[in-house]
Amino acid sequence: MKHKLVMPGDQLSTSEELLPGDGTFEENGIIRATRIGTYVVNEKHRTAEVKPASSTPVLLKKDDVVIAKVTNAKPTMIIVDVVHVTGKNRSISGDTDATIHVKEIAQGFIKDASTEYKAEDYIRAKVIQVKPSVQLETRERNFGAIKALCSKCRHPLIKKSNGLECENCGNKEHRRIADDYGNLDIEHL
Ligand SMILES: [Zn+2]
Repeated sequence: MKHKLVMPGDQLSTSEELLPGDGTFEENGIIRATRIGTYVVNEKHRTAEVKPASSTPVLLKKDDVVIAKVTNAKPTMIIVDVVHVTGKNRSISGDTDATIHVKEIAQGFIKDASTEYKAEDYIRAKVIQVKPSVQLETRERNFGAIKALCSKCRHPLIKKSNGLECENCGNKEHRRIADDYGNLDIEHL
């Protein structure tokens, strides 16, 4: 069985099947993740748990591949919070604020960065600068949004042949997505 990467808010199980354990909460009978990590079922206690990154801090370095959550989308830049460094199962020390300039989003010309990523999206990106501020890029195919929510009803957007579509209300939205959008394995963290 592959361990699936889960994000805060992801549905893990139901309160009929399991109890909410460490790193989860229960709401209306659904158990959801409170943090990014690996979903595991504790068979002994019948609890759903999300294993966090360990507590050893890691400093961001140039060329690190990171997972970041978008906090603000502006025409000229995307502001994000770096939540994870790929291949380093550790928390991040120091400043986790970072930006992606509109020119660093894709290979082609992007006029307005806020059409490509929206607040609350999770994206995979590469660190291109750490000082004086952390800057990221998403120009390669495996970079871009890896999870995004419908702007109308906040349900997950599912990848379709012609773009992203809300599984709940059918709303269609655009993002610059990573080539494995919606199909993440923990190995690719
Ligand atoms: Zn929707």
